[in-house]
Amino acid sequence: MSDTPRQITLQEWDDRYESVPTGGVPQPAYGGPLGRHVADGDTRLLKLRFDNSPAALRLWNFLLTEEDRLRAARAGGKKLVGTMKDLGTVPVMAYSLDNLVAFYPDGAWWIPCVMEVNSGLLQIADSLGIDESFCPVRAMLGAFVTEAHFPIPDLLTCSVGATCDDFSAIAQRLNGLGYPILWWEIPHRRCPEEEEETVPLPGGFAAPRCQIEFVKAELERVRIALQDLAGRSLDDEALARGIARANRVRGLLAELRSVVFTATPCPMPALEMLIAEMLAIHFCSNQEETIAVVQDLLDEANRRVAAGVGYSSAEAARVFWVNPVADLRAMNLLEDCGGRICGTEYLFAHALDPIPLDVPPLEALARMALADPMVGSAVDRATRIVAEIRRFGAEAVIVSRIPGASHCALEGEIIGEIVRAKCGVPVLEIEVPPLTDAVYPSLRTRLEALVETVVNRRSR
Ligand code: SF4
Repeated sequence: MSDTPRQITLQEWDDRYESVPTGGVPQPAYGGPLGRHVADGDTRLLKLRFDNSPAALRLWNFLLTEEDRLRAARAGGKKLVGTMKDLGTVPVMAYSLDNLVAFYPDGAWWIPCVMEVNSGLLQIADSLGIDESFCPVRAMLGAFVTEAHFPIPDLLTCSVGATCDDFSAIAQRLNGLGYPILWWEIPHRRCPEEEEETVPLPGGFAAPRCQIEFVKAELERVRIALQDLAGRSLDDEALARGIARANRVRGLLAELRSVVFTATPCPMPALEMLIAEMLAIHFCSNQEETIAVVQDLLDEANRRVAAGVGYSSAEAARVFWVNPVADLRAMNLLEDCGGRICGTEYLFAHALDPIPLDVPPLEALARMALADPMVGSAVDRATRIVAEIRRFGAEAVIVSRIPGASHCALEGEIIGEIVRAKCGVPVLEIEVPPLTDAVYPSLRTRLEALVETVVNRRSR
């Protein structure tokens, strides 16, 4: 059994590391004091506050050792697949073969935050003509050039078509620098016409049959490339096994989200929940370990719920959060201001939905890819958010804009209008840069005002 839930600093974690009761949670080979990651340059950790459970320690160590895992996988003879932009589809296919390891070079998105802009990646992107008018994913270019953050993959895939302008431009620049990319197209999801066959998608959307067939054909090309790389067959049986493992991760995360977003007090902080949700996309380069890490978090959350302990007071404002934050510290701030998370949509809702099991594997993956909130309209996205707000009883919505992100210019306004009209809850739009330090006081004021609004509305 772990301590009473508390958010602690990195220094506190390191001070208590040797004496921490693990509550039966084994700390794996990649475990150790969190402070060692600061020596690697991850200085933002010094400004964060962490959940004090062994399960959270395991989560953070898992996240922060991905690069080591990738290098070890290559040294062990496995092939690396850099999957770009689709956020959850191609990794399911790659992990269906046990000699492939997939990861998202897009994950460099967070390097400017975690290394407090000391990595030089943004300057490299600048020098390549990708300046701050692009979203922080431009750090990926610098990561390729320096090779200091992840090994260069043996195969690079990237979804195109209905993707953001930022990523299209940056991936094309990468291609121009001499990194070959297997492009596969995902069309903009549209409603079926009256005479068209309608195919239901995970998450409640629908698409015409012709779009499913198109994406299936695109994924067939990806399948061939993966099996060529692996030197073994990626047949339907292998894909079905891969889908079952991905669904195991998604099922655990669904349970964790449900427990955490509905319990009072809230049993797990917003920051650890954000990191946990991200595991659904790429499994942090080890699918089995992802299952173990999320299971630990779920067990811890359930223990806390049973003991009636957690972070928030009964009065905490129940907030639904839209978009991932470029600065992880913003998640700590929500709780400091008297809020708690009751629902999220971090741009990859389709990676959390169970993949259909009643259709052939490639069709199931095509349906899942077309359920991506970013390949449909902002109205679609808002519709799904409204359903989740109602499900988790959120009392307010925060839409966090990503600096430079092309989709953020107007999308927040559309989502805000629909959410206000349908749910009648306040919506706050904020911009969260990779380092919020300069705007921290004003961000705090705005979040506090939102929490105050929520509390005042209750007494009406
Ligand atoms: S613009 Fe948005 S969707 Fe595109 S890479 Fe940046 S954060 Fe991701």
